[in-house]
Amino acid sequence: MQANRARYVIGNWKMNGSQQHVAAFFDRLSQVELPATEMVVCPPSIYLSQAAQILKPSSQIKLGAQDVSAHPPGAYTGQISASMLIEQGCRYAIVGHSERREYNKETDADVAAKFLAAKLAGLTPILCVGETHAQRLAEQTDKVVVSQLNSILSHHGADVFEGALLAYEPIWAIGTGLTATPEQAQAVHHLLRETIGGYDSSVAARLPILYGGSVKASNAAALFSMPDIDGALVGGASLQAEEFLAICESNK
Ligand code: PEP
Repeated sequence: MQANRARYVIGNWKMNGSQQHVAAFFDRLSQVELPATEMVVCPPSIYLSQAAQILKPSSQIKLGAQDVSAHPPGAYTGQISASMLIEQGCRYAIVGHSERREYNKETDADVAAKFLAAKLAGLTPILCVGETHAQRLAEQTDKVVVSQLNSILSHHGADVFEGALLAYEPIWAIGTGLTATPEQAQAVHHLLRETIGGYDSSVAARLPILYGGSVKASNAAALFSMPDIDGALVGGASLQAEEFLAICESNK
């Protein structure tokens, strides 16, 4: 049975899109009756203000950033602070995406600092955790994801997860077309919830935990039927308005 938690579908466009794509995508979404699920789109930050102007603040669709600086405004070339993102109409921020951990060498400590900076400024952080294929084969999945979660949880407690989001994204499933089975994903989601529950069972029970890794309209419903899977963080499939809407539709 599904718990009474908010359900989410979050699109991560990564470094894709253009002004023309932003206009076409959000125009399409504003023409249809939207499914009753929380919908968030994270375009590249340079397009946030264009998207915000099309959407208007009252829109059911909210905007997120793919990253956020751990610092307040100042001498940090190339970075964008949480307050600047909020000014652009942004309400969410992904932190610790595996592509940033890998290509930008972000450590668990960097991710924790970004999570806290986002939270403190009033953005909803979306913390990503997940294992590599080698770690799964070596039966290290549980250890890896709990250690990534603990880099925040063991220092700051469960309270910082109140009003935040958690995403389990097995790295081997991101952009590969391979998806964790609903049972594999459920097992990790359950473990993550239990780990937070060890600190505060009511925060754990309320926390939406999303699955990410090659989610598309054809596999979303089976994932969403699992008791601890409250939605999805969607990469490639979130670039097409119809596909994104179809995934949202299966998460009502
Ligand atoms: C992601 O980038 O977070 C992601 C899950 O990508 P994809 O859906 O393309 O695997």
